[in-house]
Amino acid sequence: MTEPLTIKGVGASPGLVVGRAFAIDRARVDCSMRRLPDDPAAVPQEKDRLLKAFAASRERLRRILDTLEPSSEQASILETHLLMLKDPMFMGEALQLIEKERINAEWAVNRLVQRFKGVFSGIKDEYLRERSSDIEFVGEHVLRSLAGRGEDMEPGGREIPPGSVIVARDLSPADATTLLRRSEVKGIVTDLGAKTSHVAIIARAIGLPCIVGAQGASDTVRTGDLVVLDGEAGDITVNPAKEFLENFQIRLRRLQTAEAAAHALRKLPAVSLDGKRVRLMGNLDDSFQLPLVTSSGAEGVGLFRTEILFLDRKTLPDEEEHFSIYSRAVKALGGKPVTFRTLDLGADKMPGGLSGTPLARIEPNPALGLRGVRYCLRHRDIFLKQLKAILRTAVLGPVEILLPMITEISEIRETRACIEEAADALRREGKDFRSDVPLGAMIETPGAVWSADRLARECDFFSVGTNDLIQYALALDRQNAEVAYLYSPFHLAVLRGLRFTIDAAHQAGIPVSMCGEMAGDPLCTFLLLGLGMDTLSMVFSQIPKVKRVLRAASAAEAREFADRVLETGDVRECERFVREEMRRRFEGLF
Ligand code: PEP
Ligand code: MG
Repeated sequence: MTEPLTIKGVGASPGLVVGRAFAIDRARVDCSMRRLPDDPAAVPQEKDRLLKAFAASRERLRRILDTLEPSSEQASILETHLLMLKDPMFMGEALQLIEKERINAEWAVNRLVQRFKGVFSGIKDEYLRERSSDIEFVGEHVLRSLAGRGEDMEPGGREIPPGSVIVARDLSPADATTLLRRSEVKGIVTDLGAKTSHVAIIARAIGLPCIVGAQGASDTVRTGDLVVLDGEAGDITVNPAKEFLENFQIRLRRLQTAEAAAHALRKLPAVSLDGKRVRLMGNLDDSFQLPLVTSSGAEGVGLFRTEILFLDRKTLPDEEEHFSIYSRAVKALGGKPVTFRTLDLGADKMPGGLSGTPLARIEPNPALGLRGVRYCLRHRDIFLKQLKAILRTAVLGPVEILLPMITEISEIRETRACIEEAADALRREGKDFRSDVPLGAMIETPGAVWSADRLARECDFFSVGTNDLIQYALALDRQNAEVAYLYSPFHLAVLRGLRFTIDAAHQAGIPVSMCGEMAGDPLCTFLLLGLGMDTLSMVFSQIPKVKRVLRAASAAEAREFADRVLETGDVRECERFVREEMRRRFEGLF
């Protein structure tokens, strides 16, 4: 019997789960070099191993292909991989390397992949250059077959047993998007990442327990191990003892009862005891979350992260594809508003399939680079397609446009010019549209915060993105587990920035919303009510919990409380003060 083991990570999405681990370890297959022994049978045997690995890889790809929609993007990628695996030249060269240099099959494949990558990276044609990442994928398939680890598939096609807890070193946004959609997945653990990594955000949105920054987890946990996750505390228990498991099941049942009670609030209004209304909206990362709008009691979608839809693709969408997704969302919401954030590409959010193309230039410091609105204003053709689709969608229901990564007033003005251009084009094309769509700025950089009074004159609303704001205000990489301990919304720089932004918006007569993770943290609800936030947009699963605090709060008391919070200087002291006050004021809720 395997000994129980506890691993500590960062709780990124609350919830308790017991399941079997499913390890995903794409990047690390041993392909070190071995010289073949002098034995005359060694070369034929090694060649045979390689041929069998190619055959097994082809077979596996065919099986995955059978499960996919034939015309889908995923299917066409895998078909390309299958063609490469059938290519006699590719296989032939690897066999020759084994023969000539008497090396192991893994090393031959590795050498070949490196050589092709070198050739492809020099090619001018964008499409052909992209094939270099395909070569890597194909090489990886063969290496996995050689290692007898063929079960670790590409994200879309992996065969994952129901009730699995995914354990990985890291998950790219593309991997996360594909994997978390699958109903077989019950929880996530990654070695790397922090609370605001995209995998964490997506997991929270759908209420899937997730632990990030669990260093060493992917080295320790094996597929099939029984794992118990506490997504709040960040604890992973591997192969737990019977007694632990029994206690855990009791906690699990209690949690389910509490969740059912919170859920019952969904039809009641989000209003404080003294009548202050705060709109509670949901953040949408994928259209498969649409039913959550109704089940959570959200008053609409306060942040539609449009870029997440395309992270697992090789191409960016055209106007029609944008339109079909947006119009579906707006129709499904039946009159509730939707705020479409324009593509926030760059930094940690870049379609994996675009790597190596000019659309995904490698930047020395992507978080400070060409991302968000900067990216869209540079790639106007991409931006116009999206803006045209949003203006067309506006005919079907209330929509707003939100711009990410604003630092400059000129970015709002340039976007208004682009909206005019999109409207002109639609007029010429005779398509139905509305151009009077409210335009808002995300306040997620110190540059935006400290020019909020001037920005407010150019915008119709603000939405504060605390995930990035904390990162930029405190010089902390939001993905970096090493500095996660410093990442806090209670830092004075953040709190003062919030107060300045909210006051600036209200003085200019525009509403202000918050769509970063802070908005969905019930610990912050009373404070945000006191600071005067008009709308809170959060992962759907948090809406009932935030509403519960709001309905038990007095807005007048919250204002006094916010003043006191802003007087505490030290971040830890501040957090402790807020936590104690919440426990004292809202008995039973904290
Ligand atoms: C934010 O930065 O707070 C935000 C909501 O945007 P994202 O997390 O998508 O960067
Ligand atoms: Mg952001």
